[in-house]
Amino acid sequence: MAGPADRVDVAIVGAGPVGAALAALIAPTGRSVRVLEARGGPSGDARTLALSQASRDLLESAGGWPASGVTPITEIHVSQKGGPGRTLITAADQGLAALGYTVAYAELEEILAARLAARISWGAACEAIDLEAGIARLRLAGSGTVEARLLVLADGGANARRIPGLAYSEKDYGQVAVTGPVHADRPHRGRAYERFTSRGPVALLPVGERFALVWTATPAEAARILALDDAAFLAELQAHFGDRAGRFIAAGSRASFPLKLRSVNTTIALRTVIAGNAAQAMHPIAGQGLNIGLRDAAGLAGLLEEDPKGDPGAAALLESYRLGRRRDAGRGVAFTDFLVGAFMDGRRLPTWGRGIALTALDILPPARRWLADRMIHGAPRS
Ligand SMILES: Cc1cc2nc3c(=O)[nH]c(=O)nc-3n(C[C@H](O)[C@H](O)[C@H](O)COP(=O)(O)OP(=O)(O)OC[C@H]3O[C@@H](n4cnc5c(N)ncnc54)[C@H](O)[C@@H]3O)c2cc1C
Repeated sequence: MAGPADRVDVAIVGAGPVGAALAALIAPTGRSVRVLEARGGPSGDARTLALSQASRDLLESAGGWPASGVTPITEIHVSQKGGPGRTLITAADQGLAALGYTVAYAELEEILAARLAARISWGAACEAIDLEAGIARLRLAGSGTVEARLLVLADGGANARRIPGLAYSEKDYGQVAVTGPVHADRPHRGRAYERFTSRGPVALLPVGERFALVWTATPAEAARILALDDAAFLAELQAHFGDRAGRFIAAGSRASFPLKLRSVNTTIALRTVIAGNAAQAMHPIAGQGLNIGLRDAAGLAGLLEEDPKGDPGAAALLESYRLGRRRDAGRGVAFTDFLVGAFMDGRRLPTWGRGIALTALDILPPARRWLADRMIHGAPRS
């Protein structure tokens, strides 16, 4: 735990992948950085993340890319249940070696934690924040205090309410993601599947020899699915998803995550930056959340690097961060929300309309490239 009145240049609340990657990017620049994490150690979170090449490059430069356990995604198959049309986005089509990579949240956590070593204070939950013109002061669970010239909230949204002027807008999709490993009777060959259903999207991501499943359902349905034995679970998944990925033959332990869209009204406050899920948390349908959060981290680290001796919490630097991140984050939120709504809300786009859209995507390379760019990079490639 951090000692009383510890003084650092940058204090980051949250050692999730965004906070930890940011700290790993800042640490070599000579600024003192401290990461305060409420948990007593890595979470071992079971979720699988699909990350873009740009996210991989960034994590590699932070020394936070796992040496093993990474699976390239070479194709994404997109379809809808109960309607026509499907499209296949391939890496070859896009002139890329891979559309992205799957990696375990827990792996990222471990490698970044090892990289940061003593810069992380485990079990240091931020309980109070006091912002002054020259310093941000944090009170931690127990009696510790940390003072920093720049405070970064990368805590998934736990502490923004402690800061005057910050507020969240929320949209509850009324959905829960059921996740877990699933084995099929044929090799995936790097293909990911995204299947839209009126009850929510289902995704299968290739991981090693198996898939990672993300099955969205209403909270009641999710509770029922979680309680099924493996045989019943596999039979229901097969009926819901169909046989395009083969026959499902084994499943591992399942977890669940409630799904909401939540955005903060501004990503800066006095001596404070809000990054990652603390700034924008979204539905996992398009695999945007961490990719955007890592770009938050890269954006802030880049600004700090431009003026290595300057005040890291200076108002002008914070305003540059806010302006620099506004468009990218806003687009990611809007694209994700559009996908969720278009495929669930029959009034927004009827089944035949979605079929035409998927067919058009399949036969029109520029349209497919548009979707691919947003799914892979979160934005058009320049
Ligand atoms: C099922 C699912 C699948 C997903 N798939 C993808 C995907 O394929 N691709 C993608 O890009 N994104 C995906 N996401 C989104 C991705 O997981 C998040 O965007 C990412 O985890 C955000 O990282 P973060 O570091 O901002 O926050 P978090 O991962 O939420 O970490 C926040 C950290 O802050 C700590 N904390 C909280 N309160 C305090 C406090 N008071 N004091 C100190 N520490 C505190 C927490 O313990 C935690 O460690 C998915 C999400 C879900 C739920």
